[in-house]
Amino acid sequence: MKTRQLHYGCHVKKHGSFIHAVDEALRLQEAEGVSCIQLFGKNPRSIEQHQWSQRDAAICKDKLQQAGIRCFTHSAYVLNLAIHVSDQPEWFQKTAASLMQELIIADALGAQGVVVHFGTIKHQNKLQGYQDILTMLNTITPVWNGSARILLENQAGMHGGLGIMFEELTNIRKLCMHPEKIGFCFDTCHAYVSGLWRADEAGGTAELLKSGAEHGFWPHVELIHLNDTLEAAGSKKDRHARFGTGIISQAAFKELLTSEELLHKPMILETEPIGPQLHADEWEQLRSLLNEK
Ligand SMILES: [Zn+2]
Repeated sequence: MKTRQLHYGCHVKKHGSFIHAVDEALRLQEAEGVSCIQLFGKNPRSIEQHQWSQRDAAICKDKLQQAGIRCFTHSAYVLNLAIHVSDQPEWFQKTAASLMQELIIADALGAQGVVVHFGTIKHQNKLQGYQDILTMLNTITPVWNGSARILLENQAGMHGGLGIMFEELTNIRKLCMHPEKIGFCFDTCHAYVSGLWRADEAGGTAELLKSGAEHGFWPHVELIHLNDTLEAAGSKKDRHARFGTGIISQAAFKELLTSEELLHKPMILETEPIGPQLHADEWEQLRSLLNEK
């Protein structure tokens, strides 16, 4: 029987201040054994430059380090890596500046990385989309020398169809000028609704693990977005369900999360918190599923 130290947590709200989010994380560590968190570094709905307090970030970094809590930030939803520079030069520059500020804030908080969605296209030309993502990454990574990495997240399928398959993520990483500055975030809900993780089929989870290993994906996964789903496999619809209440079977989750490849990865819930307990029922379910009470 494999034993593990579980690393789980959730997305925490800032309510305007990093300190609020980190104090909440400390409370959840005490109450629920949380050891990793995610928060928005900037305003999630804007790529404009963000006013932030370096002093507050330094206080948070200290608190998190002392508590041994691993931190990740999530980039603004509107940040799109697949901007075609000659069509939208100003938007491209604004996006690059926003991504750079995301990295600077993540570093100031002591975060391991910034989760960034793979990229969105409104046209049909996927190859152009990949090229545009590479242009953006090659604009930022050569001039970024901090320790936070860009963590590309697999998508549900509603973004012009990009960023679903392992090979898209691993090839972008390989083709980028500085692959060492890129890692991955694996979202279980997105993997299921996109059709990548065939959790309902016999052998579907084993196949997912094997395929990820063949593409060299798992070693670069720095965190898991542990979301269940309300939507059917292959629907490409991104609606998270609380862990254990959606349609992905608990047996499939268990097989995935106890695999050699995912055993020690931090697991972040991105589901709606309920009441003052937030996610207590989900973590309870997770601990009992993975035999750690
Ligand atoms: Zn996610």
